[in-house]
Amino acid sequence: MTPNEFQDRLLAWFDIHGRHDLPWQNPASPYKVWVSEVMLQQTQVATVIPYFNAFIARFPDIQSLAEASVDTVLQYWAGLGYYARGRNLQKCAQIIAAHGAFPDSLDGLVELPGIGRSTAGAILSIAFKKSHPILDGNVKRVLTRFAGICEWPGSTDAIKKLWKLSALYTPVHRVEDYTQAIMDLGATVCTRGKPNCAVCPLASACRAHLENRTATIPAPKPARKSPVKQIYILCLTASDNSILLEKRPGVGIWGGLWSLPEFDTIESARLWCITRHIDIIYDRTLPQERHSFSHYHLDFTPLHFQTNNPNHFVMEANRMLWYKPEQFSSLALAAPIKRLLQQLYKD
Ligand code: SF4
Repeated sequence: MTPNEFQDRLLAWFDIHGRHDLPWQNPASPYKVWVSEVMLQQTQVATVIPYFNAFIARFPDIQSLAEASVDTVLQYWAGLGYYARGRNLQKCAQIIAAHGAFPDSLDGLVELPGIGRSTAGAILSIAFKKSHPILDGNVKRVLTRFAGICEWPGSTDAIKKLWKLSALYTPVHRVEDYTQAIMDLGATVCTRGKPNCAVCPLASACRAHLENRTATIPAPKPARKSPVKQIYILCLTASDNSILLEKRPGVGIWGGLWSLPEFDTIESARLWCITRHIDIIYDRTLPQERHSFSHYHLDFTPLHFQTNNPNHFVMEANRMLWYKPEQFSSLALAAPIKRLLQQLYKD
């Protein structure tokens, strides 16, 4: 199939079956396309839509995002995961606001924090109508199957091949529709579990379909056992129902979010309280929970300690503060911590 045929078939399919009413379309400004692309990097469209709408209602333009604190931005990101994306958005907005305009070149975009070649390609093609290829998860899957690439599509070799293919098929005309079309095809027809080849406009030349290999292409990531990290997290509550929360450092997991103090052992949690003259009048150990990150599993055991110390001490230079349950909704909390707090205050 020639690149022209590939594009024509995809565009004809898109005109009838593509998604034309996503909240970041009509008109597709660089700002909206950028925010949506960053949200979509690890998350599906249906999940992203309510987050996107709330985010845009609160930060309608670059200026409002640049002026917001990281805390406020993360509050609107909480639940989407991969929080570095939220922090990078805000950092990026400050750079663009200082620069005065959204960059409209590949070099200008990939210099910005959190914008890789594929996100830059999506912004350039959808918002600026400039012909640039993209290679997000959906496009990778379509092209891997179409070309019958047997290696895991995340390997260096496969990525090189896929960028070449993506560039080959990306048109000059209607590039904004083409980009949306190939993403839509991957999301709605060439799905991970069960591609619907019977309705696919590329079926007559698709190697995986013709060779009956859609179940094995794309190849899964070579297995590597994720390590497990064990920690205890302290739910220290006071007699007025407040709880001590800790702000995590800006980098690393749950960076910049509010969480609970962490310890390696129960003894170190107790010692920590003793050295701060915190009297514990009640304690219990809650069931262990697991939260999986892309590179390891975190097994955490919540320790619920209650103190009757009358004064609310501020600790570790304001990195730890007492909060009441009614204040939780205004805080950027890591999703598993939010769930744990809801459970704790329900009991
Ligand atoms: S024919 Fe099937 S496997 Fe090939 S691109 Fe279309 S949906 Fe995917």
